Amino acid sequence: MSGKNVVVVGSSAAGLFSTLALSQSGHQVTVLEKEDLTPCDSPVEAFESWERRGAPQTRHSHAFLARLHNGIKEKLPVLYDELMAAGAETLNFRKMVEETQSAPEFIPEDDELVLLACRRITLDWVLQKHVDQHTDAVRRTGVEVLGLISEMDEEAGLPRVTGVQIKTGDGKTEDLHADLVIDASGRNSHLKHWLEAIDSEPMEQETESCGIFYCSRFYRVREGATPPPIEGPIAGDLGYLKYAIFQGDSGVFSITLAASPTDDSLRKMRHEEVFQTIAKHLPATREWMKDEISEPITDVYTYANLKNTRRFFVKDGQPRALGLFPIGDSLIHMNPIAGRGCTLSWVSAWLMAEALDAHPGDPLAFARELDEGLIREIVPWYENMRVQDRGAQEMAQMEESGEDAYEFQRPDGSVDPKAYMRSLLRDGVMPAMQEDIVVMRALMRVFNMLEAPNDILAQPDLLPRILAVWQRRGERKSVRMGPSRRELIGEIESAAA
Ligand SMILES: Cc1cc2nc3c(=O)[nH]c(=O)nc-3n(C[C@H](O)[C@H](O)[C@H](O)COP(=O)(O)OP(=O)(O)OC[C@H]3O[C@@H](n4cnc5c(N)ncnc54)[C@H](O)[C@@H]3O)c2cc1C
Repeated sequence: MSGKNVVVVGSSAAGLFSTLALSQSGHQVTVLEKEDLTPCDSPVEAFESWERRGAPQTRHSHAFLARLHNGIKEKLPVLYDELMAAGAETLNFRKMVEETQSAPEFIPEDDELVLLACRRITLDWVLQKHVDQHTDAVRRTGVEVLGLISEMDEEAGLPRVTGVQIKTGDGKTEDLHADLVIDASGRNSHLKHWLEAIDSEPMEQETESCGIFYCSRFYRVREGATPPPIEGPIAGDLGYLKYAIFQGDSGVFSITLAASPTDDSLRKMRHEEVFQTIAKHLPATREWMKDEISEPITDVYTYANLKNTRRFFVKDGQPRALGLFPIGDSLIHMNPIAGRGCTLSWVSAWLMAEALDAHPGDPLAFARELDEGLIREIVPWYENMRVQDRGAQEMAQMEESGEDAYEFQRPDGSVDPKAYMRSLLRDGVMPAMQEDIVVMRALMRVFNMLEAPNDILAQPDLLPRILAVWQRRGERKSVRMGPSRRELIGEIESAAA
């Protein structure tokens, strides 16, 4: 197959993964990035100097799931070694379970449950270097794509994209021709407007709020200090507040707090003092925050207005244009709390390269095959996130108004099914994960995207195990994952007084 000339718009995770997948299939890629990223000699330098205004989330905590970890290790072993050499670490299921359960029975598949731990900037720095050193791709920074160039494909009755119009660092505009343009310009992509400008059919989208905003802060473990052992959950959901610790590279970790944007008291956590107060009052983060263990190395970064969004570039089998496809957040993005974005970008990039290999001379067949692959592999995760977010928003509202979200027995003796499910989750699933490796494994495989979200329902032995734990809920000392909202607000107020 003769290689295609492909332009990729955006050099973040989706753009760089696409560049790597396409290069491996022998295509000639030019990847364009509007930000002028200063070349840096190390990821530490990149963390200090890259502002990443075009992808501000890269300055937030990132988890890299087992499906991404395993994919990189298998398909791009040199890249994997480079990540490790840059200070990335692995988080191993076996180790996690051994620290929390006595004499667990492992199975060979447990070796697949390994997450990659590093700062997001480190991942991007290593990816860029790898593209430069191990592919023929041309990476241009400080080059903004302004729109598409196209002609009419009379046979298909669709616009055919033949390249992009770019603006270079010196303000000059020029046309860049391509057989295929991949839009990897992220959640704020201008693709909708670019398509309008070439008279394509409109690209529809559905979008709804995730119901949270995000605050992250990075810390360095002090020299000689040992971070606390990971003996319990390093993430938690208090209903009104979600939190997690993310292990990074080179002795750096970060803490992320997320709450409802309608919660005026918690909106203050974007201020350093409030963020510190909250993190010091959560059992999972408290030990990490101690002065003798760590020191903050950044401000608190905020990301508001988070949305679950799906764009329909292909509708009823018809792409909006030929020779073009959106990938990554530009096509579908979702609540980052589940840490799926980079893994989904990775999966999409390889699906795209496979579809191009299968239909090098037929852009319509390429678009249809890729769309089918994305509907099969990506859309179920997006749908799953929307359902979870609606439930979480309902619960946050109940917490805010002081209602008991877990009281499932109604005064008339009937059962409130939603409250019952919440109780099952808190008093069944959570403790079962701590004591039963079968439950822990099943949930971790879905969390790490090694199984599809609904596959868990197909496991017949899981529900009885969870129910058995739930039925013993009265005998167990209730484990508190953190203070109540009222208690926490009290702490914030007294710290401010
Ligand atoms: C707060 C937050 C936390 C997250 N946490 C996680 C996590 O824990 N784990 C995880 O896997 N994912 C996480 N994600 C999602 C993840 O960051 C994205 O899914 C991932 O970066 C893939 O996005 P992308 O490459 O499609 O777009 P982006 O990362 O947004 O990159 C788009 C790139 O295109 C460039 N660009 C834009 N317009 C143009 C143009 N016209 N011309 C040239 N270049 C252009 C931008 O400068 C940018 O570099 C998080 C997201 C958010 C918002």
